[in-house]
Order: sequence, then structure tokens, then C-alpha cells
Amino acid sequence: MSEAPSNQASGTPSAGAPYPYDAPASQALFDRAAAVTPGGVNSPVRAFRAVGGTPRFMVSGTGPYLTDADGREYVDLVCSWGPMILGHSHPEVIAAVQDAVSRGTSFGTPGEGEVLLAEEIVDRIEPVDQVRLVSSGTEATMSAIRLARGFTQRSKVIKFAGCYHGHVDSLLAAAGSGVATFALPDTPGVTGAQAGDTLVLPYNDLESVHEAFHRYPGEIACVITEASPGNMGVVPPRPGFNEGLKDACQKNGALFISDEVMTGFRTSRAGWYGVDGVKPDLMTFGKVMGGGFPAAAFGGRADVMGHLAPAGPVYQAGTLSGNPIATAAGLAQLRLLDEAAYAKVDSVSETIRSLVTEALTKEGVAHRLQNASNMFSVFFTDREVRTYEDAKRQESFRFNAFFHSMLAQGVYLPPSSFESWFVSTAHDEQAIQRIADALPAAARAAAEATAE
Ligand SMILES: *Cc1c(COP(=O)(O)O)cnc(C)c1O
Repeated sequence: MSEAPSNQASGTPSAGAPYPYDAPASQALFDRAAAVTPGGVNSPVRAFRAVGGTPRFMVSGTGPYLTDADGREYVDLVCSWGPMILGHSHPEVIAAVQDAVSRGTSFGTPGEGEVLLAEEIVDRIEPVDQVRLVSSGTEATMSAIRLARGFTQRSKVIKFAGCYHGHVDSLLAAAGSGVATFALPDTPGVTGAQAGDTLVLPYNDLESVHEAFHRYPGEIACVITEASPGNMGVVPPRPGFNEGLKDACQKNGALFISDEVMTGFRTSRAGWYGVDGVKPDLMTFGKVMGGGFPAAAFGGRADVMGHLAPAGPVYQAGTLSGNPIATAAGLAQLRLLDEAAYAKVDSVSETIRSLVTEALTKEGVAHRLQNASNMFSVFFTDREVRTYEDAKRQESFRFNAFFHSMLAQGVYLPPSSFESWFVSTAHDEQAIQRIADALPAAARAAAEATAE
């Protein structure tokens, strides 16, 4: 993938763009990376496969800006896929990290930082009585599923198409042909047996959930859902959907797991729970709570969490779980996230959303801007997006042209039309102005784009 995409008008995205399209230093690093790492990246979406072109290798970040290997500066609307809610290199987070690192990097024993971070989480999220720290969102959801199965002594799991819960075997499953039939592996390497206990249902469709519980009485351990999905673009739950899931679980002796790895500590002080108030049995966290370090967690009802080793029989462990540097960074970040910080992030999000809509409307580009609190994304369609099937009906080629025009003008968007955009408290007037200045040409590029 070294060519500019074909929908990119001769590789020169827009008149007045401050940067030439090619990025030689990033390209050289990408070529070297591809020799020693599959696809040149350590997480697939970073490779720009959806949008084409050269992934930008970043060397530093300050506030709302990233600087790449070619020395170009970008306003960052990815924020490390959510964690950097205070912007990059926040001085108080950096100071907490430096202080922690000066005392050693890992002890393999309990430490006070873990207690402080757990207390902060329990204090913010009322349904969480107890929490176990892990190192990634994937570990959190994997462990929560195991715990739910161990607690209920049932094996089947309901998940929703378009919801992403990390690369857990049983959750990398795609919908079979009918509703409420067993899932098929989504990737080679996941066996039929691993996917076979997973039921994949359409998002926002309570009827299919009721049908599944009816069809498999006493067999379903849990329902896992993104609290408000951000991994198929932003597709918020319809009013009453999460409540309906919770009720269905309660009625059928299953656990309701709300995956707040993305929404947690971002969509409000108490995450999406703080927005809709539906009380899950178990919750998963990551991203923001790590302050840019690998820290994640799962937690919930004390009687369920009490089944976890060493208190109970369900095994779960981690050499670097509760790492002192990661917990220090996460705690410092959470302590800075007061109501004023969320108000700021919400208002930055609202401003950018209206600028995007204004620019696309002016060019007559059909689009839907959907948001869940300060998370948002643009779908190039004129219809409301409620399910993954809806999301897939958008004209992604328009997003790709839009993306490359923004990139060439110094704005870094998620390199896929199926991802949320993220903003931070550091997005000041100057950063927003840069976005505003880039939007007219990007909207024009979207309007002029044609399908391959
Ligand atoms: C990012 C994400 C995960 C996976 O977290 P990793 O730290 O990447 O393993 C799980 N669930 C949701 C909702 C996410 O957005």
C-alpha cells in the first residue's frame, strides 16, 4: 500500500493544502516495518488499508497536535483511539509518570497505586463494587466473559453485530445466516467450537434477544454489548435498548455485561452509565483509564466478582496487571477529569460536529453525523444508522476522499469510516480553526469522489 488511492485526484488532494501528498519519511519507516512486522503495523487499522495511502508514523504529540516523521503537524482527532482525553503530553500526567518511574517500573507485588485507581473507579461507577485491573480491553472482556460463564455455569454468549470487544476468540464471530443461530468464526484461527457458543444478533433489536432467550432456555450466560457502540462508527442505543437487555438478562438468569472500554470515563464522569443509568452486572474499561498506558479493568457486582481467584474458583491473572506506571498515569488522568473537563470535551465535540455538517451540507453531500455524548462519526448516507447493516450501506469512498483531503491539510482523522472521532480538553480555538479551514476542501473532495 504505497500508492495514493485512485479516488484521490492525481494525489494532490486540494489546492492550498500545506503539505505535498507523499510522506517520504513515513513511507521509508513503513517499508522497514513491513519487513519485520506483518503489514507493517502492530494493530491493523493503523495500516490505512481502508483509506489507502501511507500511514503516518508519529514521533511526538503535544496537546491537540501530533507531529509525524516528516515533521508535519496534525490536529489529532483520533486521540490514540480515545485514551488521550486531556490531549498529548499533559504536564500533570507526565509528572505522575516520571514520579512513578523514578521509584521502579514493576514489582510483581501489590502496590498502593492499584488501590487508588480501583477506589477512583468504584467511586465513579455506582454499579461497580469491585474491580480487577488488567492490561488491555481485550483482557477485560475475555475475563468478564469467563467470569460470567463460571458464575452462571452456562456457556452461551450473546453479542451484537458491529460491536467490537477486542480480539477475544469467542467474540470474533460473525452472524450466521439467520437470527438467533450460532455464530461462525470471523477469522481463521478461531475454531467453530470457540465461536459456536456465541450468538450474534442485530444491534438495537430487542426482539431477536427475546427470541434467543426463548430458543435456548437456561443456556445463556451473558449478553455483552458496547454501552454505546463506537466501533461501527457511532451508533447509539435506541431509547430503552440497554434497559431491555438488562431486563431480559435478569428474567433469564443471565448476566448483563456493558463494555465501556471506549465510552468509560469519556462520555461522562461515569461513562455511558452516567448517561443512561442502566445498571449492568459486569462492566469493562480501558482506554481513558490508562492515561495512554496499558491499563484496563473489569468489575461489577461484589457477589459475581467474588467468584474470581483467589477469592473464588474462576482463574484470572497478569504479570503486569496494575503496573505502577500505568496506574499512576491513569489515576492522574482521572483526577483531572472533573465536570468542567467533560463540559469542555462536550463543547469541543459539538463545535466540530456543527462545522463538519455545515461544510458537507454546503457541498450537498448526503451524510449523517451521529454522536453519543462527545463521541461522534460521519456516515456518508442520508439514513439514520441503527445497525451494522445500516453502517455498511454508506458511501465509504466519499469518506476516503474526505480523509485524504483533511490529512493533506494537517488534520488527522480515524483512517476508516467505521470509527469514532475523539476530541480532548486540549482542542483549543486554534486547533478548531485549523479543522474549520480544512473542511471546505475536504467536503468538496467528498462531493466529487466517485466509487471505483
Ligand atoms: C478498544 C476496545 C476494546 C479492546 O481494547 P484493547 O485495549 O484494544 O484490547 C474492547 N471493547 C471496546 C468497546 C473497545 O472500544
